[in-house]
Amino acid sequence: MELLDRLERQLGELDRAGLRRRLRVVDTPCAPHATVDGREMLAFCSNDYLGLASHPRIVEAMREGASRYGAGSGASHLISGHSRAHAELEERLAAFLAPHLEAPRALYFSTGYLANLALLATLAGRDADLFCEELNHASLIDGARLSRSNVRIYPHRDIAALERLLAASTAKDKVVVTDSVFSMDGNLAPLPELLALCERHGAWLIVDDAHGFGVLGEHGRGALEHFALQSPHLVYMGTLGKAAGVAGAFVAAHTTVIEWLLQRARTYIFTTAAPPAVAHALLAALDIIDSDEGLARRQRVQLHVERLAHELQPRRWQLMPSQTAIQPVIIGGNNETMQAAANLQERGLWVPGIRPPTVPAGTARLRITLSAAHTDDDLSRLIAAFRDVETA
Ligand SMILES: *Cc1c(COP(=O)(O)O)cnc(C)c1O
Repeated sequence: MELLDRLERQLGELDRAGLRRRLRVVDTPCAPHATVDGREMLAFCSNDYLGLASHPRIVEAMREGASRYGAGSGASHLISGHSRAHAELEERLAAFLAPHLEAPRALYFSTGYLANLALLATLAGRDADLFCEELNHASLIDGARLSRSNVRIYPHRDIAALERLLAASTAKDKVVVTDSVFSMDGNLAPLPELLALCERHGAWLIVDDAHGFGVLGEHGRGALEHFALQSPHLVYMGTLGKAAGVAGAFVAAHTTVIEWLLQRARTYIFTTAAPPAVAHALLAALDIIDSDEGLARRQRVQLHVERLAHELQPRRWQLMPSQTAIQPVIIGGNNETMQAAANLQERGLWVPGIRPPTVPAGTARLRITLSAAHTDDDLSRLIAAFRDVETA
C-alpha cells in the first residue's frame, strides 16, 4: 500500500539521520539498579530525583489507596471522579506552596503535559500576548499553540529581550511562561528578574517547576522556595511523577485563577480523573518530601551534583554548567552521541542520548540524571566508564 510505503521511507530517513527512537523494556521498579531488556544495568536516566518511585511507604500507600477507593475513578472530576484522596491532595499542595502564593488553591491534573495545555489555553486567550522562553518544554509549546494567543519567543534567559517585548505589548492580558529548571540543560531560569518584570508590566508569570518541585528549596517546595519568591503574579505548575515519585501534576495559584481553570480547562474537564490510589500515594510522598528524610535526600542529590562537577571533567566533550540533578554532556553529532550511549551501555551503564528535535541540531548530548538513590559507588562507576568511553 502506498500510504505504508511512504511511512517506511520516512522511517528510513530517521534511521539515516540517526534519529530513530527505540523502546527499552524494564522488568524492575524504577531504581538505579534495573533489569533492562533482560540485562542488569546501572541507570542514570530517570527523573526520580529523590528515589521515591519505589519507596516502600509510598508503595504501601498506593496499596492502601486501592483497597480503600478501588482501582479506577470512574469519571472525570466534575462528574463523579473527584475522590476524598484527590481533595486532600489539593489541600495539602495548596498549604505546601502557601508561603509563596497569595490566597493559594491547587488543582491536580493527570499529567504535567495536560496541566500545561490547560494553563496556557485558559490564561492566555486570543487577545493575549504570550511570552515564551526559547527552551521551554514541548508541552508548553503545544499549550501556546492551543491558546491561539499572540506568541512571542524570547531568547534563552534573556531578560533584556523580554523587557523590550513586554514594553512594546499593548495587550491587556500578558503572560510570561518559563521552565524553572530547563529539562535538557539543567540550568535555572532567572526567576527573580522575570518576576520583577512581570510585576512591572502587569503580566502573569507561569513557572513550570517539573524538575524543581521536591528537590529545590530546603523544604522541597521547589524553585519558588529556592529563590524565596512570593507574588500574586505567580502561577505555579509542579509535576508529581518526577521527584515526588508517583504521577500527575498540579497548578497552584490564587484561588480565582484555579476557579477559572476548573471552569474552563478542557484537559481537566474532559478526561477521567486519575485513580484515587495515585492521589493517596502522593499524600505519602508529600509527607516524605516535607520531612527530615526528604531533606537528607535533597542533600544527597546535591552532594552527587558537586562530585560530578569536580570529577567528571570530560576532555573532548563538554559538561554543561548545571547546579541541578540534570547533568548534560554535550557531544554534538547525533550518531556520535548515540554511539557513546551504546558504548556506555556495553559497560552496563544506562545514560540516554538526547537528539533533535528534543534539543537544537548540533547539540546532541548524553543526559545524566542523578538521584538520592544512587550510591557513591554508583557515581564512581559512572565516572570511570565515562573516561573509558570518551577516550575510546
Ligand atoms: C516532564 C515535564 C512535563 C510534563 O510532565 P508529565 O507529568 O510528565 O506529563 C512538563 N514540563 C517539563 C519541563 C517537564 O520536564
